[in-house]
Amino acid sequence: MKTNTTNKICPVCKLHDQDIIRKWNTGEKTTYKCARCGKFTITQMAERTTKRKNLGPKLSSWIRNLSELEMEVPEINTNCLVEIEQSIPEYNPSDKQYLFLRNISRKSRHPGDVLSILPELDYPLAWASAPDEILFYIRFLVERGFLTLTDNKGFRYAPGNNSISVAISPLGWNYLDEYEQRAIELSQAFVAMSFSKSMSKIWEQAIKPAINEAGYKAYRIDSTQDHYKFNIKIIDEIRNSLFVVAEVTENKNYVYFEAGYAVGRNLPVIWCVHKNDIDNVHFDTKKCNHVSWKTPEELKSKLYDVICVAVGRRKKI
Ligand SMILES: [Zn+2]
Repeated sequence: MKTNTTNKICPVCKLHDQDIIRKWNTGEKTTYKCARCGKFTITQMAERTTKRKNLGPKLSSWIRNLSELEMEVPEINTNCLVEIEQSIPEYNPSDKQYLFLRNISRKSRHPGDVLSILPELDYPLAWASAPDEILFYIRFLVERGFLTLTDNKGFRYAPGNNSISVAISPLGWNYLDEYEQRAIELSQAFVAMSFSKSMSKIWEQAIKPAINEAGYKAYRIDSTQDHYKFNIKIIDEIRNSLFVVAEVTENKNYVYFEAGYAVGRNLPVIWCVHKNDIDNVHFDTKKCNHVSWKTPEELKSKLYDVICVAVGRRKKI
């Protein structure tokens, strides 16, 4: 393995400094250690796709947040990029403020602990795409009373050097507790799939165990309810879910309706289909990457892997 620690550019965030370490594992993939993203291995083809599709900011945040959670960053190949692109929601500014505050809380050793944030390197902590964006969230969190600035530098900031010292306020800790309580309650994965007898076997043997093993509660609607109650229940349960598994084998319209509702709510949707049914998949969703399977064992194993990459594995419930 060749190692080169001269100045290089991170292919994800374009950081150019001495903190980038390149290691050529093979001719096809490279390991980087970036002061902004963290450590990751990416294939050459994935590097090109990242550039072409402008996935840099999202990918940088994804890598950095996995590193912050001390989770292993899977090798980034083109399949992985498709999952990231389709499954990570476009976070709104309110989500990003929460995610940033949560990252600061993880770094805090105790309430009142003062942390130094370097916007130039730390903006992926807020799923932001530039230093200015994280500065905006810091300002807003201070105004909301959730963060306190612990020095007098204010927000004057010149790229590359000025750090900002912040601490989470008591109000901020309360906000995190309330938000996280809701996140604990939201451990559900909604499953949209055909109600046929053969697919019920797939639910029991593959989908439900894959979701449970990833640490989530699998929820499938009860098909015996009357039509009106059925629709209300669907909307309600999707709202109470963290993500949706859409199993489109047998091509049922209600499965597309449920998945479409989840997409509209910015929830990650993981599509699955039996290999024999791939050609029958609805036109609009053909462009999405499907977990294709032949046996329940194959679906269980692939679905588990995709959930871990797309949503993250959580402690067993
Ligand atoms: Zn980087």
